[in-house]
Amino acid sequence: MRTRTIAALAGMITMLFCANGCTASTEKTETKAKYIFLFIGDGMGNSQVAVTEAYMSWKEGRLGGAQLSFTQFPVFGTATSYSANSNITDSSAAGTAIAAGVKTNNGYLGVDPEGNPVKSMSYDLKEDGYSIGIISSVPINHATPGSFYGHNKDRGGYYAITQEIPASGFEFFASAGILHYFGPDGNSESSADLLEQQGYDVCFGKADFEQSRQTNDKIVLCQEYNKDTEPVNYDSTGNKPEGEITLAEMVQYGIDFLGTEEPFFIMCEGGEIDWACHSNKTLPMINATIAFSDAVAVAYEFYKQHPDETLIVVTADHATGGVALGARSRYHSGFAELDKSWAENNNSNNLDPISNRELNEKALIGWTTGGHTGEPVPVYAVGVGSEKFSGRIDNTDIKGKILGE
Ligand SMILES: [Zn+2]
Repeated sequence: MRTRTIAALAGMITMLFCANGCTASTEKTETKAKYIFLFIGDGMGNSQVAVTEAYMSWKEGRLGGAQLSFTQFPVFGTATSYSANSNITDSSAAGTAIAAGVKTNNGYLGVDPEGNPVKSMSYDLKEDGYSIGIISSVPINHATPGSFYGHNKDRGGYYAITQEIPASGFEFFASAGILHYFGPDGNSESSADLLEQQGYDVCFGKADFEQSRQTNDKIVLCQEYNKDTEPVNYDSTGNKPEGEITLAEMVQYGIDFLGTEEPFFIMCEGGEIDWACHSNKTLPMINATIAFSDAVAVAYEFYKQHPDETLIVVTADHATGGVALGARSRYHSGFAELDKSWAENNNSNNLDPISNRELNEKALIGWTTGGHTGEPVPVYAVGVGSEKFSGRIDNTDIKGKILGE
C-alpha cells in the first residue's frame, strides 16, 4: 500500500513486485522539460558576477543588493571545469564537456581525447522531437556554439565546423557572424553560399530576419555589419555598432521562431564576457555580463508563462582573467574611475593595455592573467528538474541532468 502511494505521488516510477517479493522492473518515464534553455556565460566565474553586481549596486547608490537576473534563481550550485588534459580548460573542451558530458583535451571540439566524435545533447533532443536553437554573441562557429553541433580535433577548423551546421538540421542559429566566411584558402564560395545551397537562409540584421522568417524554416542570423565579410572580432572597447541585435533580442527571436507547439532547446552563449576578460577590460566585462543577464531575463519571462514545462540553466564554461573585486590591499572599490574614463572615451574603453592596467589599479579591480582560470564555475537553475543542479557537480554532469536522466 505504502509503495503504491509513493509511486502514485511521484507519478514517474512504476514498481512491479513478483510473487516472491523480488523487484521485477523499474520503468522510468519522461522527466525532462518541454522547453529547455541553457545559458553559458563564457568566462563568467563567480568573480565576474561579484564585480558586476557590486558595480550595479554602486550605480544605485548602495553597497550590495543589486542582482543579475539569474542570481535570483532558486537553485545554485557549482561545477568543476577541468579538461581531460589541464586544470585550466579552454572553451572547446568545456563546451564539449557541457554539451556531450565527456571530458576532452583543450582545443578539441565535439570529440573525445582519442578524436572520436561525441554526441551533444542537442542531437539527443533533436531525436526526441525538439526544435533546436543555437545562439551566441560571438561567431556561430566559435568554440562554445560549435561544441553543440560540430566535431573537430581543431577548434580553429572554422570552415569545416561551419559545414556541420546544415548536417545538424537544427532550425535556428543566431550570432555575430561566421568566421572564415570565405574559407581557409580564400575560396570564392562563401560560407553563406554553402549554407544556402543546403536549405538554410543566412540573414543579416533585423529587417532581413523579419522577412526571412515568413518563408524559411531554417535560418542562420548574423549581425548586419558582418554581411559579406569576416566577422569583426569582438570590439574589446565595448563600443556597440549601430543597429546591433542584442543577445536578448536573439533569444526572443529564437523563442518566436521555434514556437511552442513542439518542444525546444535553446543554447545561448554570452561570448563577449570572455573576450572582454582576455583584455582585462573591466567595464566591457561588466556590460557583457549585464547583456547576458538581459538575455536570461527573456527566458525567465517565457518561464513565467510556462512554469510547469520550462527549465532554465545558467552556467559558465570557465572563468577568465582572474578578475577580483579588490586590489592593492585596499578595502573599497573605485567604480567612479571606471565611469569617468568611460565617459571621457565616448562610451568605450579604447585604452592601450598599459593605460587600461592603470585604470584597473585606480578602480581597485585586480586581474591576474590574460587567459582562463581553473576555479569551479557557478550554476543557477529554475524550473522543471532544476533541483538537480544544486550542490557540487562536474561540468560533465550537466547533460544528463538536462536530459532528465
Ligand atoms: Zn577564452
